[in-house]
Amino acid sequence: MQSPAHARHTDDPTFSNWDRARLSVVVPIGVIVAVAIVCIVVAVLSSAQRADEVAATQERQLLSTALQNFGRRTLSELDSVASSQGALANIRQAYDPNWAEQRAGAWLTTFFRHDEVFIFDKNDRPIYSRVGNYTVVRPPLETSTTDFAEILNYMRGRSAAMADAIRLTDRGAAERGAATHVAMLRLVMGQPAAVVAAAIADAGVTASPDSDAPILLTVKFLGADALGGLASQLGLDGLRILDHGPVPTGDFAYDVAAPDGSRIARLVWTPKQPGAEIVHSVVPFIAVALAGFALLGAFVLRYMRRTAVAIAAGENRLRHLAMHDPLCGLPNRIFFSERLEAVIEEVAATAIPAALFYIDLDHFKDVNDTLGHPVGDELIRNVTLRLSHTLRGGDLVARLGGDEFAVLSSIGGDAPVMMALAQRIIASICAPYNIGGQNIVIGASIGIAVIDRHCAGAADVMRYADMALYRAKNEGRNRACIYDAAMDADLSKRKLLEGDLREAIENNQLRLVYQPIVDKSGDNMLGVEALCRWTHPTRGEISPMEFIALAEHSGLIVELGAWVLRKAMTDGLAWPNLTVAVNVSPLQFRRADFADTVEHTLKETGFDPARLELEITESVLIGNIETTEAAMRRLKAFGIRLALDDFGTGYSSLLYLRRFPFDKLKIDRSFVLSIEKAADAAAIVHAVVSLGRGLGMKVTAEGVETADQHLFLRAAGVHQMQGYRFGRPTAAERITARLNAPEAFRSSDEPTSLAG
Ligand code: C2E
Ligand code: CA
Ligand code: CA
Repeated sequence: MQSPAHARHTDDPTFSNWDRARLSVVVPIGVIVAVAIVCIVVAVLSSAQRADEVAATQERQLLSTALQNFGRRTLSELDSVASSQGALANIRQAYDPNWAEQRAGAWLTTFFRHDEVFIFDKNDRPIYSRVGNYTVVRPPLETSTTDFAEILNYMRGRSAAMADAIRLTDRGAAERGAATHVAMLRLVMGQPAAVVAAAIADAGVTASPDSDAPILLTVKFLGADALGGLASQLGLDGLRILDHGPVPTGDFAYDVAAPDGSRIARLVWTPKQPGAEIVHSVVPFIAVALAGFALLGAFVLRYMRRTAVAIAAGENRLRHLAMHDPLCGLPNRIFFSERLEAVIEEVAATAIPAALFYIDLDHFKDVNDTLGHPVGDELIRNVTLRLSHTLRGGDLVARLGGDEFAVLSSIGGDAPVMMALAQRIIASICAPYNIGGQNIVIGASIGIAVIDRHCAGAADVMRYADMALYRAKNEGRNRACIYDAAMDADLSKRKLLEGDLREAIENNQLRLVYQPIVDKSGDNMLGVEALCRWTHPTRGEISPMEFIALAEHSGLIVELGAWVLRKAMTDGLAWPNLTVAVNVSPLQFRRADFADTVEHTLKETGFDPARLELEITESVLIGNIETTEAAMRRLKAFGIRLALDDFGTGYSSLLYLRRFPFDKLKIDRSFVLSIEKAADAAAIVHAVVSLGRGLGMKVTAEGVETADQHLFLRAAGVHQMQGYRFGRPTAAERITARLNAPEAFRSSDEPTSLAG
């Protein structure tokens, strides 16, 4: 009955919600987290790079300082010999080759590990030389003068260019003409080396050396030893001289420059790269942070998913509530309208017709009013259950309002099939209910509209079904009608007529006529039945069948009924020996104030209640039995008599009748009419008469037109007769006239003789 539509309603929102939540929350959070992570990584990498740069600069500076220190230290080692008293005495004053060899050459090379030691006299001629462990004699000595010419020139104050260059590396020493000592880095025999020189002078004249001073000069190569020392001192890994080729990737280089700026060596080493260390030490934290983020993200997602599901469930609940009737759980009008639109589209596409059944419960309102809402609610639930059992799985049942239901069926446009289904629905609804110990009977009318491919829209289909429903109710309730185009015209006509009827009631344009009710002989008038008449200003006489139904449908029946009651009693005052029967519409009778109205009118008019007979139909009995019974008993307590009108046309069970305090049964005209035509009709009339008698009620036959009918009914035991044979409905004055001259009326009014 509701599966596909339901599935759609419950599932969709979950995912659309979740998607929406994911888009609106998860994506921004994800982007923020990703951006944050990228920022952190970039910050770490750039600070690592910066740290590497700082470290590289520091390492270069340290290396530069260390190289200068290397020169200075070499110089101070040299100085320790050059400025000793021994040197002054054994080299300057009187050259002692032994001293030079032992205390200068050997000492400096073995103890301080200088590589080459030279002593130059005042003419810059080498007088002593030692290379490593070997004391060298002339002629190689001569070349050393040219090798070290620059330094010697500087020491003697002869070279301004050299002085400038040296000033850059050894500030303070070259301010004067001649120098006492110098240290520089330069190439010696293609090898970088610290070349240091000191003038051997008197202790007191170191500040201003004389140009005659012999000069002690040594060379200390920047070899593996020296580099190893530097490396361990500075903590530089793999410090070495790069002879040729590019700097290996990842290594740093430092160019050792001679005083003239020319490169004498390129030192390379593997930098410490603290940045990498930073990265290494930060990576775990980042990893932990990432894991944390991921975990947090997962939690957030999980939470959101749960929330989304909860929200979706809530939404579904709300949607379900919005789409379903809270009382019976059936789809409501909103849901129904949606489905109706969908079905109309489907029909337009497939050309397979469907049908809308518009069901209206008869007398549900009375149950509600008299037995209370809990019972009414329970009744609705029972009706829902029965409807659901009666219909096929593919049909949609909805509750449109208080006592209105609708069924959307794929049953199609075949009239007999639709009517059969409608009858099944009516039968299922009309079977008696037992709610809280109360027996309840209600009825149902159904309007059917076919939905075919010419169908205009939902509003039209609903209107058609409504018109058909009206017709069904009008034709006597517990019926179904299929819409046809003529009903449209009927509707607008009816609307106009309704307005006219309202005016007629207000302007006192209705009349009452009275039809005699006679004894079984037909000779004596016992009473009259008041019947309403309306002469429409343009349409002329309108049948009460038509305008009473109109009044019932529009609610005008209450006013109309009250008017009839008063008018009949007022007129009836003129006939003190006649019973006055007044028709009461079920709608009137069911009103809680009906008995009050009757009592009030009796008092107002002074009419004798014992002469008043109220005619009600079986449909009054439908609904709440107890309240109906109570109302009837109250009316009877006034002394009023009650007649069951149109007996045999309804569906009330005969047993059921026993409960109600009827004084009279009126056999419907249709039975009387069929007496002569159908054999079993006669049998039925017999049965009804004996039933009425058995229940202690008087039996009246309506619509007696022929002498044969009269004879038959009389023989069957009918107590009273009513029909054209004994008098047509006529104006009050004519009744009065007839009472005054019964013989005259018998001959003039009735063409048929009573004899026979
Ligand atoms: P009803 O209560 O069954 O009234 C009897 C109907 O049968 C009347 O029709 C009457 O004219 C008609 N009739 C009587 N004898 C014969 C006969 O021998 N042959 C034929 N063919 N018809 C006969 P009417 O006056 O057209 O009323 C029709 C129905 O309208 C009534 O049926 C009643 O149900 C309703 N009605 C009329 N007046 C009132 C009223 O004041 N209040 C209410 N609530 N209903 C009324
Ligand atoms: Ca009647
Ligand atoms: Ca009747």
